[in-house]
Amino acid sequence: MSSNGFNEGSQPVFREQRRSMVEQQLRSRGIHDHRVLTAMEEVPRHEFVNREQWEQAYSDHPVSIPEQQTTSQPYIIASMLQSAEIQPGDRVLEVGSGSGYQTAVLAALAREVIAVERYPSLAEQARATLVRLGYENVTIVTGDGSLGAPQFAPFDAIIVSAAAPRVPPALVQQLAIGGRLVVPVGDSSQQVLELLRKHRDGSLTTHSLEGCRFVPLIGEQGFAA
Ligand code: SAM
Repeated sequence: MSSNGFNEGSQPVFREQRRSMVEQQLRSRGIHDHRVLTAMEEVPRHEFVNREQWEQAYSDHPVSIPEQQTTSQPYIIASMLQSAEIQPGDRVLEVGSGSGYQTAVLAALAREVIAVERYPSLAEQARATLVRLGYENVTIVTGDGSLGAPQFAPFDAIIVSAAAPRVPPALVQQLAIGGRLVVPVGDSSQQVLELLRKHRDGSLTTHSLEGCRFVPLIGEQGFAA
C-alpha cells in the first residue's frame, strides 16, 4: 500500500471513479458524443498525474502537473473534443499536451495525433506515460505550438489547450479543408472557447462556445514569456 492509500489493486476503484466522472461531470452537463464519453471512461487519468494526486485525478477541476501547469478539468476537455467532432480517420494537432492525458483521449478518437509541448520535461514525461500505456498513434514534439507543426500539416482538427490572445494565424493555415480548430481566446484571466471551421472555398466560420480559464499559450503567436 502506498502512502496515498492506493496500490495496484486500486484499478477497480478508479474504474468506478471514471464512470461517475462521465455521468456526473460530463453527461449531466450536455456532453453527448458517445465516442468522447467512451474514451474518457476508458483512459486512466490518474496515470498522468503524480501518485500523491491520484485522489484528485477524477475530481471536477484541473489537477497540478510539474512546471506549474495543469491537466485541464475533465468537462472542458470533453467539451473541446465534442465540439471538434473528431472522426476515426482524422489527423489531429494538439497544442499544449501537458501531462498527455488529453493526448491519450485524442489517440482513442483519431487515427493520428501530433502534440506540441513547450516544456521538454513535460513532453518527455507524457511520452513515457503514453508508451507505457500502449498508445502508438501519437507523436509528441517539443516547441512553440502557437506556430503549429507545419511539417505534419494539414490537420483535420486542432485543439489548443492553452489560452491565446487571438486565434494564431499559423494554426488556421494548417487546418485542412473541412477542418475544425478549438481554441480558448482572451486575456490571461478569462477566455472564450472559440470553434473555427474551414470551408471548401477556404473561408472560415467562427462560433463562440463557452467561457473558460486556461494557462497562457506562451509563444510567437501567443503571449510573451
Ligand atoms: N490538456 C493537457 C493535459 O491533459 O494535461 C493540459 C494542458 S495545460 C492546461 C497547457 C499546456 O500548454 C502546458 O503544459 C503548457 O506548458 C503548454 N503550452 C503553453 N504554451 C505553449 C506553446 N506555445 N506551445 C506548446 N505548449 C504550450
